[in-house]
Amino acid sequence: MKLILLGAPGAGKGTQAEKISTKYGIPSVSTGEILRAAIKDNTALGMEAKSFMDRGDLVPDAVVIGIIKEYLSSDNCKNGFILDGFPRSIPQAEALDAMGVTIDAVLDIEVDDAKIVERMSGRRVCLTCGATHHVVYNPPKKEGICDKCGKELTIRKDDAPETVLSRLETYHNITEPLKDYYSKKGNLVVVEGQEQVDETTKLVFEALSRFE
Ligand code: ADP
Ligand code: ZN
Repeated sequence: MKLILLGAPGAGKGTQAEKISTKYGIPSVSTGEILRAAIKDNTALGMEAKSFMDRGDLVPDAVVIGIIKEYLSSDNCKNGFILDGFPRSIPQAEALDAMGVTIDAVLDIEVDDAKIVERMSGRRVCLTCGATHHVVYNPPKKEGICDKCGKELTIRKDDAPETVLSRLETYHNITEPLKDYYSKKGNLVVVEGQEQVDETTKLVFEALSRFE
């Protein structure tokens, strides 16, 4: 299964990507996670991406397209993959088409803006393994500590309230047109993001079952 996850920042793409990855045994790749790891490691990629990300702007298309190209050519993507956070613009979607990849389904997780803003304020991420928690909706077993790897959880710089608003604007202007793009191709499925992670997962699995 080759999947794309669409949705506003904070809609829960990363969380659902993990569930799908476990159920179907396919890897999930998050461009945001790759970029954050690069920043943490002070690589050339990280230095290029940092200012864009801190402002809540998109990183230039060429940079993320390069990341995805490399990733999709790796062996562990042979049996399928989940793209979380890519494509995020029409040129990125066109670049993916040009790579000759056939996507089975594009799953769009819908959450309204007010809810997004509320969610982002409680989001905590693990910079070591990439896991995401939320202080209310998906709390770690031990406060401030990642369930998955036991390292410290942090607040993302771009989750600051004013940055969240500008990310939402970018989402509506540049990313949301992808819904139309994929709906015209006939493989868009829409799921309403729920309050509870497990409820969303249930809807996601139902929606994906027809692509098995
Ligand atoms: P969220 O979905 O919550 O916005 P991500 O981790 O997916 O978080 O992305 C964080 C940031 O990384 C984005 O705001 C953007 O700056 C950058 N980024 C991630 N994926 C892309 C992409 N496909 N194109 C451009 N920038 C990206
Ligand atoms: Zn972790």
